[in-house]
Amino acid sequence: MSENKRILITGAAGFLGSHLCDRFIKEGYNVIGMDNLLTGSMDNIEHLFKLKEFDFYFHDVTKFVHIPGKLDYILHFASPASPIDYLKMPIQTLKVGSLGTHNLLGLAKDKKSRFLIASTSEIYGDPDVHPQTEEYWGNVNPIGPRGVYDEAKRFMEAMTMAYHTFHKVDTRIVRIFNTYGPRMRLNDGRVLPTLIGQAIRGEDLTVFGDGSQTRSFCYVDDLIDGIYRLLKSDYTNPVNIGNPDEITINQFAEEIIKLTGTKQKIIYKQLPLDDPKQRQPDITKAKELLNWEPKISRAEGLKITYKFFLDKIAKESN
Ligand code: UDP
Repeated sequence: MSENKRILITGAAGFLGSHLCDRFIKEGYNVIGMDNLLTGSMDNIEHLFKLKEFDFYFHDVTKFVHIPGKLDYILHFASPASPIDYLKMPIQTLKVGSLGTHNLLGLAKDKKSRFLIASTSEIYGDPDVHPQTEEYWGNVNPIGPRGVYDEAKRFMEAMTMAYHTFHKVDTRIVRIFNTYGPRMRLNDGRVLPTLIGQAIRGEDLTVFGDGSQTRSFCYVDDLIDGIYRLLKSDYTNPVNIGNPDEITINQFAEEIIKLTGTKQKIIYKQLPLDDPKQRQPDITKAKELLNWEPKISRAEGLKITYKFFLDKIAKESN
């Protein structure tokens, strides 16, 4: 019998990291999850500890990373990832994207692992090309509040490409657009958990600015499938993965009101600095190269996510 492939997933206790752990376990891999629990939660991976195919290392990837034995793949998903989180933890955000990526690329080079990084639509900044194609270089304010995340991710891409061209490390870059689903944190500050949390608690729903800014929300299972396909492909330039179904934040808030049946109203708050006015992925590359496109509609995905939050709150209040 052939030995299982072995994969290291950083940020394993986070929203995306934990879904990736599940997917790779299901595909027959041995998974090593790594996290320092800065924003992650053990609740997300508790169910995996009984499996012999799963190991967990409590470790901060900005410090030297050592993994004994062979390692076929490394997925670097550790980072604060919501605007509120990276405003609270600017230095850690910069370090995990830069020093963390450097350490893990060193590990990938040493172990001859295939290396995939979680980049982001944030590298496009407040985009003046719409929808965003991978060829667009972006419009980022390096010294604004979002700069710590955006520039760390841009550096991460540059470092990854340098290891690819100079050290011949086998690399992949996924640019992730707004994603939602079970295991998001209710208090992470992102629009979806914030509005659903407010509706559940009977508070008014906060929309920033005039709500005319747009986003395109992808359900987590679709995103994970796109990442899986990219890892297995031989394409080494960045690929956008996201759902192109674009809506305004006002429309989104109305959908949450309908979904939850709340009687509360929308209240308007100040738009955060450098908040992108529009965002929609061009997914032509993902379609052509990976034969991937999202399958789960927002109506379907929101229903599942709402149920997750209701169950979580009910469990916690018992
Ligand atoms: N937003 C909002 N109300 C909230 C939280 C966020 O209107 O309570 C807006 C935010 O200003 C942005 C959009 O919703 O325009 C998406 O914000 P999020 O933090 O989810 O992610 P982003 O795409 O900005 O990284």
